[in-house]
Amino acid sequence: MPAKKYLLGIDIGGTKLAAALADGEGQLLHKTRRPTEAPKGSQHVLDGILHLGREILTQANISSSDIACIGVSCPGPVDYKTGIMYTPPNLPGWGDVPLKEILQKEFGIPAKFDNDANAAALAEYKFGAGVGYKNMVYLTMSTGIGGGIIIDGRIYRGTHGSAGEVGHQTLLPDGPLCGCGKRGCMEALCSGTALSRIIREEVKRHPESSMLKLAGGKAEKLAPPVLIEAAKAGDELALQIWEEAGYHLGWGLANLANILDPEIFILGTIAIKAGELFLAPARKALDKFIFNRHIPLPELVSAKLGDEIGEYGAIAVALAT
Ligand SMILES: [Zn+2]
Repeated sequence: MPAKKYLLGIDIGGTKLAAALADGEGQLLHKTRRPTEAPKGSQHVLDGILHLGREILTQANISSSDIACIGVSCPGPVDYKTGIMYTPPNLPGWGDVPLKEILQKEFGIPAKFDNDANAAALAEYKFGAGVGYKNMVYLTMSTGIGGGIIIDGRIYRGTHGSAGEVGHQTLLPDGPLCGCGKRGCMEALCSGTALSRIIREEVKRHPESSMLKLAGGKAEKLAPPVLIEAAKAGDELALQIWEEAGYHLGWGLANLANILDPEIFILGTIAIKAGELFLAPARKALDKFIFNRHIPLPELVSAKLGDEIGEYGAIAVALAT
């Protein structure tokens, strides 16, 4: 077996940890997962990460000297150069963790880092809906809205590495409060958290909607999956909520398009499940707010990699130039 043939990917999420082994081209060969169990503390999570790395080497019957590089996808903020994770909000009590140093000490291999949104953008660029494009923006579309901007095939990081916070562009200065403390951010208008809030408010005003019944009468279950199910069954209120959320999404995308001129927007998580319920009104708003009418409208599609995006993201980080 030739040495340095493989790439090891490690994906650190708030609920699950994953490790993947790929060949030098990024083809996944093995993968393994375990729950993060973040409340058990940073040492427990770190032990879990190292365990997964060792486990996958055993599975593949190779040693760490056969690995060219480790790619790590982790929650931000992370310094992609030093591999220090700075008090990740999803991993309470972590403080600042020099993960690159820890991994290099354990495996003796160079490690590359990126935050999960950039890693997911790289994954779609190399293996998913972004294959064949050079300029794209990926939006995470889950509880919050994160982003990864790829220009000429490389992540655009900005001066301090903090570019890509597409969810915190202000659309409505007097709009609903965002998790960041400002009002009317795109994230406060069409993220998963925002959709759940909107559904709960609207169902109170429109008790005739089928959504509360679909949620088993439990207001806390009024969330995007119920909104998708109700809209697919023709529920008027659900369709209206998607229309408005899509309008805000498309408005935000048009702002990005006016500044970055990408070929394609790729949307993850909720957009994958909602599909055209979300994308069709967003495309209309994108068309409405775009400035340059003489160029093709950027494509707007949902992500392709689904549940394996974490693994592919970590491998894509290892492959990134
Ligand atoms: Zn915000």
